Amino acid sequence: MEAAIKRILPHSTEAEQAVVGAMLMDKDAIMVAAEMLTGEDFYQSAYGMLFDAMVELFQAGKPVDLITLQEHLKEKNAPPEISGLEFARELLVNAQTSANIKYYAEIVREKATLRKMIKINEEIADVDAKYKNPRNLCSGSVRQLNNQITAERNVRFYAFALVSAQDVDMHNSRAYQMEWLKSQGFEVVEYRMVTGESLDEAMDYFSHAIENNDFPSDGLVALYDDIAYGDSLGSTAKFPRNAFAFKWADEIRETTLREIEWSPSRTGLINPIAVFDPVELEGTTVSRASVHNVSIVKELQLGIGDTIQVYKANMIIPQIAENLTRSSNLEIPHICPVCGEEARVIQENEVESLYCMNPDCVAKKIKAFTLFVSRDAMNIDGLSEATLEKFIAKGFIHDFGDIFEIGKHRDEIVEMDGFGEKSFENLMTSLDKAKETTLAKVIYSLGIANIGLANAKVICRHFDDDLEKIRHADKEEISSIDTIGPVIAGSLTDYFSNEDNNRKLDHLMSHLTVKKEEKTGEQIFRNMNFVITGSVEHFANRAQAKEFIESLGGKVTGSVTSKTNYLINNDTTSNSSKNKKAKELGIPILSEEDFLKLTEESK
Ligand SMILES: [Zn+2]
Repeated sequence: MEAAIKRILPHSTEAEQAVVGAMLMDKDAIMVAAEMLTGEDFYQSAYGMLFDAMVELFQAGKPVDLITLQEHLKEKNAPPEISGLEFARELLVNAQTSANIKYYAEIVREKATLRKMIKINEEIADVDAKYKNPRNLCSGSVRQLNNQITAERNVRFYAFALVSAQDVDMHNSRAYQMEWLKSQGFEVVEYRMVTGESLDEAMDYFSHAIENNDFPSDGLVALYDDIAYGDSLGSTAKFPRNAFAFKWADEIRETTLREIEWSPSRTGLINPIAVFDPVELEGTTVSRASVHNVSIVKELQLGIGDTIQVYKANMIIPQIAENLTRSSNLEIPHICPVCGEEARVIQENEVESLYCMNPDCVAKKIKAFTLFVSRDAMNIDGLSEATLEKFIAKGFIHDFGDIFEIGKHRDEIVEMDGFGEKSFENLMTSLDKAKETTLAKVIYSLGIANIGLANAKVICRHFDDDLEKIRHADKEEISSIDTIGPVIAGSLTDYFSNEDNNRKLDHLMSHLTVKKEEKTGEQIFRNMNFVITGSVEHFANRAQAKEFIESLGGKVTGSVTSKTNYLINNDTTSNSSKNKKAKELGIPILSEEDFLKLTEESK
């Protein structure tokens, strides 16, 4: 708690901390407030004045609400616009809300920022780490450990339902709740009172109204105004019966298919990408969509010049919905578009995909090096895909070990476009830093099919971080490891059965200092699954807590299931969905302190 307050008010006095401490009782809200507030310089002019006024009210024993605050500010001759500031409202809303209101909220993004998001996504190399939809992006932004990034992303907050408020009579009406939320300074989602007769009309209204919104919307919810009646309906296995959700149909546009681009990837898989006449979809211009694999190309009977319908899945990812003309005149290429060597259609589980069969394909190399230098792998700063492409084209790097010998080409590199002395020195420094790493990161960075970082860690732990043991392990032993199946085991043994791979790995290892994953004593949490939620205090962040658990043999997953052994949440009594789920399943909820005790006792 104290740590969280200090985060909100890094330079605050004790009195100020006491105010916030008294007002902010809910840890989650503190974190949200912290993320929102630290993006601004807290002590600047109006904000500072506003906060001082709140402190004075608190010290005088007066209520710290919007009305009293406005009066107090008037008495102090503060400029009238201060209490209208977005910031004032946010601060108050967060403070008051946390004190005695639990709320649901929709945090939405402005459309301009939606375009920015597409940019953000473009900068994320790992396909799996890209944001899938606005909601996903929004929560990701609020949870950023870097407040500056959070602030840059213009997150806004709209309440759409009130769960409870102590000592406030809501007159058994949802509409009353919304108006009350407004009176407390919340922005709330637009709503209308309807009857069975006027529901269609309202849907029609909203279907047009959302086009003028600054933020995307995926549907409408119809909810009984009568709170007691709605609650009396109970709920199905998953959803309460007092509400009906409607999803907007996807926006679909017709266009003409001009070309299929075949784009090779690290594994040799060549992805078909449809290129069509540009169309406006959900606020952006779209002219390309992945067709994913050869089976879909065939299923849609695609041909150049066909009239196709396109839409954005989750309002983000362009897709072909239908091919209206189905000319089927497209030829699947027999050569890789990058290296010109043989490409072959291979069938796996009913799905046909095109692969480049050339192990030395440049496209594969570029993608492989891109994974190699990425943050979760060797974490080498200063080597963008474009730079790697140039280094490969100039023949500087053939295998991973060559990257650490790039200094040999200093004279040529500093003369390269956009690569001066400074970037070269920076690259040398990050290479030096990257040399010290863990075996799991090395294994992951090799880009072996099906081996992600989590699997690499599990495998390294099993083999005691001994590369030679891993190299010579047989498929049976590997697949006997918990969570590692025969497919992963096969990928690993295939990789190490190739002499060339081993030679390249030896070259790489000659440049590295591999430190063992820290093991604090025994693997006391072996075969145990943890979920961590909310903020942590003992650990610097959740990632650190995760590493600690993993070092003791445990696993940390994202959601509470019947396989979860413990949920770690400092707010053990909160009504968060994870807490509820844990209670339903009888899974113990531990505070960090409880967890540390458990660690001590288990040793
Ligand atoms: Zn190729």
